[in-house]
Amino acid sequence: MKILVINCGSSSLKYQLFDMENESVSAKGLVDRIGIEGSNLTHRKTGAEPFTLTTPIKDHKVAMKLVLDALTDANHGVLKSLDEISGAGHRIVSGGDYFKEAVLVNDEVMDALRKCIPLAPLHNPGHIMGIEAIQHALPKLPNVVVFDTAFHQTMPDYAYMYGLPWEFYETHRVRRYGAHGTSHHFVSLRAAEILGKSPSELKMITCHLGNGSSISAVKNGKCIDTSMGLTPLAGVIMGTRTGDMDPACVPFVQNITKYSADEMNNFMNKKSGLLGISGVSSDLRDVEEAANKGNERAQLAINMLEYGITKYIGAYTAAMGGLDAIVFTAGIGENSASTREAVCKKLEFMGVKIDTAKNNIRGKEAIVSADDSKVKVLVVPTNEELMIARETKRVAF
Ligand code: ADP
Repeated sequence: MKILVINCGSSSLKYQLFDMENESVSAKGLVDRIGIEGSNLTHRKTGAEPFTLTTPIKDHKVAMKLVLDALTDANHGVLKSLDEISGAGHRIVSGGDYFKEAVLVNDEVMDALRKCIPLAPLHNPGHIMGIEAIQHALPKLPNVVVFDTAFHQTMPDYAYMYGLPWEFYETHRVRRYGAHGTSHHFVSLRAAEILGKSPSELKMITCHLGNGSSISAVKNGKCIDTSMGLTPLAGVIMGTRTGDMDPACVPFVQNITKYSADEMNNFMNKKSGLLGISGVSSDLRDVEEAANKGNERAQLAINMLEYGITKYIGAYTAAMGGLDAIVFTAGIGENSASTREAVCKKLEFMGVKIDTAKNNIRGKEAIVSADDSKVKVLVVPTNEELMIARETKRVAF
């Protein structure tokens, strides 16, 4: 069975074709700058050199046609016929509280996706265009939508509600939704497998630490709290996002800068975080390098990140009434041994004991805690595309 995983933005279309017999990727690629000058396709059959094509691509339908042509091309294709594709899985940033899990696309689902646009105005319109494009090209193909928010839909109301007047929830659905749910779900399942336990017996904290970072409390296989909120701005300090702060900072800064709401939002999302504090970069590698050379603001940014992660782990341990495992994933979680070590050292008091030698790894699956550590610490590389392919298979077949 072949599943095409699609991640469409407003001007991009990323794809991976999975062979579900062994969950391998047969080909993958990206269409970039859709509707913009310089649009192009980069396609790569696994094990072969990439193929690139620069041509005007006016919309997602043209982009999808190019992708399907590339997949069936005599030279760099991997399919004899498009009939070999059994289904498509689409990554959707926000399903609001309409969707508690992945679902098969029908007209009702498309209507609900449109209703979720205000919650992800930069992402959901592109996702919808991607679904429409493949429906146009392959009308009989089953499409499944897999939501970044779905895994967090098991949070209890007291965890997802904000202290705003009730009408804002009732009328405008203002609440915590979280993000990176597909990643938290994937690594929590894989961590349980590595530990030889069922997710239902474990209290886990999954730390997805990348350019955007979120931390989730996963109790008995279900998410009970997560650090991102209505939008991905909340939680720990990120590459260019503030993370948590007193909401009154917003009007306070606006009064000084005279920024509009949109300008302020952009400022908090794009100019803040590690970049804003260090003045060096949003990339932790650059910030670490600057700190090692004695840059105090770079060191402060690192300290804020490590302190923030530690605080969330402490809070979520209390929320779950205990902790069996901490799971690190994404760019920083998978690669930064120093971040993992610093956080775990601060948590020694609650039975977290990191093994420095085992922790000295990058991008590999491993248990990095000492054998006698009460709380296990794992590194699990995330694979959101594979999770989407698995969910598509589960829901559609
Ligand atoms: P995104 O959220 O955009 O998917 P990634 O998950 O790729 O991002 O994470 C990017 C982050 O991972 C960057 O801050 C980068 O510095 C960090 N990172 C990658 N490799 C390392 C490393 N070896 N040491 C420290 N940080 C790293």
